[in-house]
Parts: sequence; C-alpha cells; structure tokens
Amino acid sequence: MRLLLIGPPGAGKGTQAARVAHAYGIPAISTGDIFRANVDEGTPLGLQAKEYMDRGAYVPDELTNSLVLDRLAQTDAGAGFLLDGFPRTLAQVYTLDDCLEATDGGLDAVVQLTIDTDEIVQRLLRRAKEQGRSDDTEDVIRKRLDVYQEQTHPLVAVYADRGILVSVDAKGDVGDVTERIFGALGGRIRRAEG
Ligand code: AMP
Repeated sequence: MRLLLIGPPGAGKGTQAARVAHAYGIPAISTGDIFRANVDEGTPLGLQAKEYMDRGAYVPDELTNSLVLDRLAQTDAGAGFLLDGFPRTLAQVYTLDDCLEATDGGLDAVVQLTIDTDEIVQRLLRRAKEQGRSDDTEDVIRKRLDVYQEQTHPLVAVYADRGILVSVDAKGDVGDVTERIFGALGGRIRRAEG
C-alpha cells in the first residue's frame, strides 16, 4: 500500500505519518527527516540542503528526487510506504509517477491534513522551543507557509482530480486525528496485525 500525507508545515504530518505507517506495517519516509539526518552528520548533501532549509526554501528537485528514488528502491519499501513531505512540487509529482509506473502502480491514497494558519504558527513556535529546529523561527515559519501555499498546495487539486484524495481535519488531539485518518481511508486499506 502506498500512501502520501500532504499538508502545511505544522499540520502534524511527521507525528501522524509514524502512527499510520506503524498501523499499516509500512515504512514512513520523510524527506525532511532524511535531510535533517544529513545535516546532523555533516554530509555533502546535508551541507547543501541546510542552506535552503534554514531560510524556509525548498531543497532543489535535483537533490531531493534522487534521494527519494534511492529510498523507495530499498527492500523495506517494496510492500508499500507512507511518504511524508514528498512530493512537494509538481516536478516531484511527475518524478514519483514515473518511479511508481516503473513498478506496478500509483499511490492508493493521498491524505490531506487541513488546519488554519493561526493554529499552525502557534504549533510551530511551540515546537521551536521544544526541539530547537533552526527553521522554526517566526520569519522562517511564515516563509515556509508561503512556499507551501505557492508550490505544494496546488498538488492537492492534482490528486483530487485523480480521485485518490481524502481530507482530514488536523486540529485537536493527536489520537483523534489518527482515528480520523483511519476513518477517511475507510475499508479500502487493511491495517496490519498488532
Ligand atoms: P519538513 O520536515 O517536511 O517540514 O521539511 C523540512 C525542510 O526540508 C523543508 O522546509 C525543505 O527545506 C526541506 N524539504 C523536505 N522535503 C522536501 C521536498 N520534498 N522538496 C524540497 N525540500 C524539501
């Protein structure tokens, strides 16, 4: 099963991705986490990515696409995966399409997490204090929201046109949001045992 979680920064994608992926027995693949791990390890990719991340910009597609294609080719992603934070641009959508076509099919569902801007800014400022992420300052948060609106929000319509989009209200308790996601995915996807 192949899922994608899409939504603005601060919608809780990372938290929900881990919970949903666990329930379905598939890996959660987060490009943000992969970039942050590279930044922490000081790899050449990390050094390049940090420049963009610190100012709230997207890492260029040529760096991002190859990283995701390599990750999807690993054996644990063979039976399915949950993508968190990729694709984020139309070019990335087409890269993913080509990759999945070369295997045996596309995404089963795209879950859009919806939340209003005030709630997002509050959540991200809270996270800045708790996790000390360098891209969680107020200026960078606003920039990231603008970039999301411009470059990523249009993807929602693309997946809606394909008939695979479900929208879930991301406000409120973490467990309630997870249950809403399971509800929205409905009977079409069976959860793993345990
Ligand atoms: P996230 O943890 O998903 O909020 O991602 C943190 C940052 O990593 C983003 O603001 C971007 O700078 C970068 N990033 C993550 N995923 C992508 C992507 N698919 N395309 C470009 N940049 C990305």
